[in-house]
Amino acid sequence: METDVIVIGGGGGGYPAAFRLARSGYKVVIIDPKGELGGNCLFSGCIPSKTVREIAQMVWRNNRILKTSIRPDFSIVQDHKDKVQETRFIQHREELKEFKENVELIKGTAKLLDNKTVRVDVEGEGREIEIRGRYVIIATGSEPVKPKFPGSEFAITSDDLYGYKTNIRKLPDDITIVGGGYIALETATILKSLGYSVRVLVRSGRVLKGFENEIVETLLPLLDINIMYNSPLLEIRKKSENEFEVLYSDEKGNKKSISTGLVMLATGRKPVLPEGASGILALDSKGHISVDEAMRTNLPNVFATGDVNGKAPYFHAAVRMSVAASYNIMSNGVATDYVDYKSIPVTIFTIPPAAYVGIMPSEAKKLGLSVIEASYDMKNDPMAQMYDEMGGVLKLYFERGSLRLIGAWIVGVHAGFVINELGQAVAHGLTARQLAEFADQHPTTNELVAYTARKVL
Ligand code: ADP
Repeated sequence: METDVIVIGGGGGGYPAAFRLARSGYKVVIIDPKGELGGNCLFSGCIPSKTVREIAQMVWRNNRILKTSIRPDFSIVQDHKDKVQETRFIQHREELKEFKENVELIKGTAKLLDNKTVRVDVEGEGREIEIRGRYVIIATGSEPVKPKFPGSEFAITSDDLYGYKTNIRKLPDDITIVGGGYIALETATILKSLGYSVRVLVRSGRVLKGFENEIVETLLPLLDINIMYNSPLLEIRKKSENEFEVLYSDEKGNKKSISTGLVMLATGRKPVLPEGASGILALDSKGHISVDEAMRTNLPNVFATGDVNGKAPYFHAAVRMSVAASYNIMSNGVATDYVDYKSIPVTIFTIPPAAYVGIMPSEAKKLGLSVIEASYDMKNDPMAQMYDEMGGVLKLYFERGSLRLIGAWIVGVHAGFVINELGQAVAHGLTARQLAEFADQHPTTNELVAYTARKVL
């Protein structure tokens, strides 16, 4: 079989490029063992976890403001999650119909034979086909790291908790989450808001590595979760179906144990490479496929987008990279579109959330950039007052002289929404004056952007 472009992986790094190329007349074959578009984000990641999160936030707000004590049946929460996933699978099937002249989705796992040829093990058919393409986009994503230690087989990962039609429909009262990254903390606040007792075991002395210290210090007191620092996990012992003994080492190195109903490991993610890729493609020190800003690998006709290149492991970043790869293929492999990783917002959807974009003060210092800071206390935000969630801060960083917004962060109500406006400003080099002169919609948390920008003028 011959095609113009082979896309390996049907997630955010894969299908946007396929559709864009198809619109310009390219023939595209997408390969994914799921036989559906949406990737891990839709199957077990952002969409299902944020569906559960939205319900958890509703419950939490209800219980606080209306003085109720709702604790939803977790199976109903999971049913709703599955329904949202189903809706989106159907939506993607409709999109595929729209592009049926030029895009074919093959359900299977792809192996790279060389830079132009893949062999696909077609799912359920027990046969292999060979496809040749002028270009290849590798968008095979990432998966949770599941460290091996005694009893590790008793722990679940976020894929098990949020996976489509997962068999986890009921949760025990006491849950232990292992890890200090965004998945661990998001899930801890989600489950706590749904009425479960949650502890987080963290190997080191801090959480959210990679986030600016000040963001973490502002966020953590608002989360009200039990984080046990310097407590590496040693072993899990199964006592019964819903009872596990977790052995860990405490801050002084003493072996301790706790009894819990469920252990979830959230100990990072690692890239998934198609077989054959590591033999022909350059990889970075963590095993991601090395790319430049145009998504080009060391082979001129092979592009790698999304989590697999490790540049910015978020769905919206994968989409941006995918679109860039499609433009660069349409210009015959000559780089014409470059991804600016710095203007991609990052949000941690804890309850409450935090988000940042651009250059943070510690980095500005290293770069020798002189910065003017303006901040706003969330307690004065009308939305924060309406929800009675008055904790948090918005900070804007302007380059001294030009007054261009180079970075921003926000902890508190609607952080994940407000960061989009700030991301646009960073991406397009907007200044304090331009932000200040925009009439942000009242009453929304976005109006803090103009208000805060006015503080430096
Ligand atoms: P991203 O957001 O970076 O696109 P995802 O993890 O959401 O990443 O999606 C990656 C997709 O790639 C998943 O749906 C997965 O099934 C698919 N995939 C992984 N390995 C292969 C492979 N060898 N052949 C085809 N598809 C693959």
